Amino acid sequence: MMFRVGMGFDVHRLVEGRELWLGGVNIPWEKGLLGHSDADVAIHALCDALLGAAALRDIGYHFPDSDPRYKGIDSRLLLRHVMRLLDEKGYRLGNCDITICAEQPKINPHIPAMQQELSACMDCAPGQVSIKATTTERLGYTGRGEGIAAYAVALIETKADQPC
Ligand code: MG
Repeated sequence: MMFRVGMGFDVHRLVEGRELWLGGVNIPWEKGLLGHSDADVAIHALCDALLGAAALRDIGYHFPDSDPRYKGIDSRLLLRHVMRLLDEKGYRLGNCDITICAEQPKINPHIPAMQQELSACMDCAPGQVSIKATTTERLGYTGRGEGIAAYAVALIETKADQPC
């Protein structure tokens, strides 16, 4: 069995008049993330970590924001598509770990629901999906509440004794 690791990072701007989607969960909040899709920054970072682990380019390559097909799209569909790409290359998820950086709202109460959503999209056990939340101590754009950032790391493995 071969193991491969990938990392992902994403940022979206927080604005009024948008729903806030994080980790596939709709969080009630006065602002939401701006983007061509639902702007789920946690899923986008995760997709880039998975694609990176498989050397399959990045989320913008597969789902360009100039393509009207992806306007307002539920990012869970993007994650499912990324998992299909990995499956076609003979990979499966080992585990993943996401860190969400946000001053507000409180993320921690929503983490179990995110774990359920993401593991359902990736057809894996909730224990293979770790989600963590942090503030940046009011520093920088996340600290000022201008946006939310997310980092992700994913470990993938070959399904059998297939070469990479
Ligand atoms: Mg994004």
